[in-house]
Amino acid sequence: MFGANPTQPITEYHYSYFQACGGFIMLWVCLSSWEEISGLDENYTPIRTYQVCQVMEPNQNNWLRTSWIEKGDAQRIFVELKFTLRDCNSLPGVVGTCKETFNLYYQETDSEVGRNIRENQYVKIDTIAADESFTQGDLGERKMKLNTEVRIIGPLSRRGFYLAFQDVGACIALVSVKVYYKKCWSIIENLATFPDTVTGSEFSSLVEVEGMCVSDAEEEADNSPKMHCSAEGEWLVPIGKCICKAGFHQKGDACEPCGRGFYKSSSQDLQCSRCPAHSYNDREGSWRCDCEDGYYRGLSDPPSVACTRPPSAPQNLVYNINQTTVSLEWSPPADTGGRNDVTYRIMCRRCSWEPEECVPCGGNVGYSPQQAGLVDTYVSVVDLLAHANYTFEVEAVNGVSDLSRTQRLFAAVSIATSQATPSQVSEVIKERVQQRSIQLSWQEPEQPNGVITEYEIKYYEKDQKDRIYSTVKSRSTSATVNNLKPSTAYVFQIRAFTAAGYGTYGPRLEVTTKEEASGTSRTHAWILAKQTILPSASAQSVDCVSTSLPVRHCGYSKADQEGDEELYFQFKFPGTKTYIDPETYEDPNRAVHQFAKELDASCIKIERVIGAGEFGEVCSGRMKLPGKRDMSVAIKTLKVGYSEKQRRDFLCEASIMGQFDHPNVVHLEGVVTRGKPVMIVIEYMENGSLDAFLRKHDGQFTVIQLVGMLRGIAAGMRYLSDMGYVHRDLAARNVLVNSNLVCKVSDFGLSRVIDDDPEAVYTTTGGKIPVRWTAMEAIQYRKFTSASDVWSYGIVMWEVMSYGERPYWDMSNQDVIKAIEEGYRLPAPMDCPPGLHQLMLDCWQKDRADRPKFDQIVGILDKMIRNPNTLKTPTLMASSCSSNRPISPLLDQSTPDFTTFRSVGEWLEAIKMERYRDNFTAAGYSSLDSVARMSIEDVMSLGISLVGHQKKIMSSIQTMRAQMLHLHGTGIQV
Ligand code: AMP
Repeated sequence: MFGANPTQPITEYHYSYFQACGGFIMLWVCLSSWEEISGLDENYTPIRTYQVCQVMEPNQNNWLRTSWIEKGDAQRIFVELKFTLRDCNSLPGVVGTCKETFNLYYQETDSEVGRNIRENQYVKIDTIAADESFTQGDLGERKMKLNTEVRIIGPLSRRGFYLAFQDVGACIALVSVKVYYKKCWSIIENLATFPDTVTGSEFSSLVEVEGMCVSDAEEEADNSPKMHCSAEGEWLVPIGKCICKAGFHQKGDACEPCGRGFYKSSSQDLQCSRCPAHSYNDREGSWRCDCEDGYYRGLSDPPSVACTRPPSAPQNLVYNINQTTVSLEWSPPADTGGRNDVTYRIMCRRCSWEPEECVPCGGNVGYSPQQAGLVDTYVSVVDLLAHANYTFEVEAVNGVSDLSRTQRLFAAVSIATSQATPSQVSEVIKERVQQRSIQLSWQEPEQPNGVITEYEIKYYEKDQKDRIYSTVKSRSTSATVNNLKPSTAYVFQIRAFTAAGYGTYGPRLEVTTKEEASGTSRTHAWILAKQTILPSASAQSVDCVSTSLPVRHCGYSKADQEGDEELYFQFKFPGTKTYIDPETYEDPNRAVHQFAKELDASCIKIERVIGAGEFGEVCSGRMKLPGKRDMSVAIKTLKVGYSEKQRRDFLCEASIMGQFDHPNVVHLEGVVTRGKPVMIVIEYMENGSLDAFLRKHDGQFTVIQLVGMLRGIAAGMRYLSDMGYVHRDLAARNVLVNSNLVCKVSDFGLSRVIDDDPEAVYTTTGGKIPVRWTAMEAIQYRKFTSASDVWSYGIVMWEVMSYGERPYWDMSNQDVIKAIEEGYRLPAPMDCPPGLHQLMLDCWQKDRADRPKFDQIVGILDKMIRNPNTLKTPTLMASSCSSNRPISPLLDQSTPDFTTFRSVGEWLEAIKMERYRDNFTAAGYSSLDSVARMSIEDVMSLGISLVGHQKKIMSSIQTMRAQMLHLHGTGIQV
């Protein structure tokens, strides 16, 4: 393979070159006796030769020289001589003079040097003898025996040289002189081209040659192609190689492009491969294939893998809410997009209730284990806001999701968080330390999760063995704890209270009271149970210690929860204001300005109409008071052309509202009376009135959220009743809801109940009364009290739990009055926990003294919120919930269906009151119909003296009536 014919002739002097000393004589210098003569070669082909044959004479010295031969690249020159030589023995008479050899010389020069030969300038190459010589016959007639001799000269350093033949008395015919050098011929080896390469100067030398990659090939890294050209013109020792570039593959000694539908991603690959799944190419020589539409290659995907697409949405997304933590769980997507690197990411957005506008949750929300790159199919989202609406999107993503421009696919849920207790009160500062008192202040918890209505300060003597502690309460963020011992270390902890209950206590703060100044010693042995608290912000203060009957004044009782060891101080805040009826003012204008701030109309900007009030439009707008932040407000306007009485009545509401300051009572910002229109400016309640709000969000809240709303209303009502204010028109339509779902009692006015409320109708007693919301004594003889407000509150509870259902549905007012008088009470709305329905029934006790006070209602609701399990089980009776709406499974199990009882005995057994079976029989109550007509007096007259049993039986009778009513339609016949 290497150099099949490695020789490269420089020149060849065949006989033709010797034809005439004229033609090529220029080339040859014939000196002395050399002659140019014709003859025959061994094949009898005529040839011309240079001959000499001076064998008879001694001392011959005949030179024949070639022309100047340019050597080119050659360094090592081969000289091949073909000649015949006469055997001296065959020539008679030549002994002593005849020779059988001749000498070969060369001379190196850079150019031609003329015709003169100077022997000493020639270097002898060799003495040439014949292998075969003539032995017989005449030179002219005989066939010549041709000898071939090859001699090598070099290394040569000049541009050219002469060859010279010296005859010293032989009979020679020089037939041809071939002068050549050897080279390695151009070759392609390992996809590299090696050029023609002249061999080295020495016999043993190898010439190293770098190969050039053929087109579309490249050198293998750190392995460039090399070969060695031997002195014999053979390629030896190949090293390194070229390889076909990406997109090309080797075919023989060349690189050919990969065909359509094929690719070769790297020069390292040997073969072109077919395009992987979901990819194609329609040109030759591709290093990769393009993805089909909708398919992508991940950034780190090699070209050899299939093109893939984003996964489909996760499936079966379910959630669980625990206060402000939402746990989400889902199943993997049906289609992973052809990849196995699917992870999940969560998008959290918080949405306003109305209108629904969502913003990203931002960094305040935490994700466990993380928000994105989730490998498992679950996450917990923590630190959400309480009472807020959230949308969570769970998206499955893989290595190509971010490359895809197609629409994102995700599973989503909208969740409303429930009420949560406030976070810890942490930064507590001791403001003033005295001998017997310590004043503390603190920051509102970072996450109040509602309106903080109270703080509880728990403290104990640090060194006291039993660690009995006391609690005091404050409505502001500071408090003074009095009646401490001098020089004593106390440990304080504070927690906040909202509608959702108490938060956890903050860190302990240790403070030591000052040393007692001599002579001021007082006895404090009984101090523990007799502490009181003072809201330090308040100017008034009460020191229980110094009063003679501190316990009665401050009033404390053991907390009504069993097992709760804390002492709860229940007291009326000293200085709690009493409501003043504006009607008692001779000048109503004075009343307004006593209780309401006069605002400059230029600070108020009306934006849009949101409702219609009795005296004019209700608008929303903005208010910007000097030095204060601009805020949203509701503005009630007095329509033009009003009478003086209308103006007075209109402003009367402001005079009433302005006396109140409670988070669950709508707050009056002020009035504009000096200018037109006359305006009442109230805090803005984004979600409007509660009845409409609930109807709009039917079924969307958890029971805890609904109870939270009820708690707020009850707290507002407790405040109003504490102030001595009777509302008279408490109904869901007169409760407003803000963006945080905080409910506030509104609609205050003296004549309003009569004139404004569309629900109010004239009764036989002459007044206009919202019958369905009003207690019987108020309907019948206008006995409006806080207890009648409690009745209305029970109806509000029913409205809330039924998401704004109309109380007594479409029964006429007359039928309602009749049914109530006969003991009928509204059944539990769907999904209403029995405990709540029981509370409603309690509010609807016929005898107003039997109804709970707002204070107790707040307590019961707080307990329910603190321990939601109480909502699941009836607090008093399992049988107190029935429903005129479809009965929920929960209630189905706990509520006996009275229509299935065949006897009074069976009924008593079902409610576990069979011990009174004889009492009923003896009094003649033999049918369920007759039982359904019984009043509480009737029950008592049977000799059932235990109040709990009376309640249980009465409540069951009420439910029985409700079910009968439901069965037979309205107008129960009793
Ligand atoms: P009123 O005259 O108080 O019954 O108000 C009429 C309507 O105006 C109500 O039903 C509410 O929808 C709306 N409204 C009244 N006061 C406010 C307020 N403070 N914030 C938002 N909307 C209010």
